[in-house]
Amino acid sequence: MMKSLLFLSILFSFQTIASVCWDQTTEEKTSIVKEIVASYQSEALGRLGQMIELRLSDTTDCRFIQAYGGHDKSGIPHVTFFPGLVREFSSDAVLFTLCHELGHLFGSVNPQSMGIATPYDPRDSIEGEADYFAGSCILNYLKDETLAFQAGKEALQKFMGPTIKMAPDKARKKKYKHGIDFDYPNPDCRLLTILNGIKGEERPKCWYNPKENR
Ligand SMILES: [Zn+2]
Repeated sequence: MMKSLLFLSILFSFQTIASVCWDQTTEEKTSIVKEIVASYQSEALGRLGQMIELRLSDTTDCRFIQAYGGHDKSGIPHVTFFPGLVREFSSDAVLFTLCHELGHLFGSVNPQSMGIATPYDPRDSIEGEADYFAGSCILNYLKDETLAFQAGKEALQKFMGPTIKMAPDKARKKKYKHGIDFDYPNPDCRLLTILNGIKGEERPKCWYNPKENR
């Protein structure tokens, strides 16, 4: 009984969409996204107290590339995809993006855990942490460190241009509150964060220095 109830509520946690942008070109990728979100629902119930809503935007701008994850203004945890991202990105890069958005919900570095006020929901993990979570999350699905890193790099390149590359890790000059950069880290720092997430290594200093400024 519990199982069928849970199954029904998982079904209804997907928003119905009417946009023409979601067609046969997006079908396969969105079905993988749905499966993965469904696989996180029991963890969502346990850790967030409610299930994640997967939202597929009803925009008719089929080229609009964006995705969001976190708690909305009503406190509902969601992952939202716009059709351009799913159409333009490879399956692996869509998967990486999903892992990043889930990282905003399931990562452990967030303003609440540090007692810091933010304009957005303080339960949502910051960008660096979303990338770090995404590294371990995507490795779970792709099972190969090189493929997992490529997926992350491809997704970042789509947003930040093709020339991003790695650089040695060091704390940045920018003054971070509590030693942590709450904004998007630089592209090279994001790549390193993804790699460290994949390899299970520590969060890089380029955004995470919690002992600094204390
Ligand atoms: Zn993000």
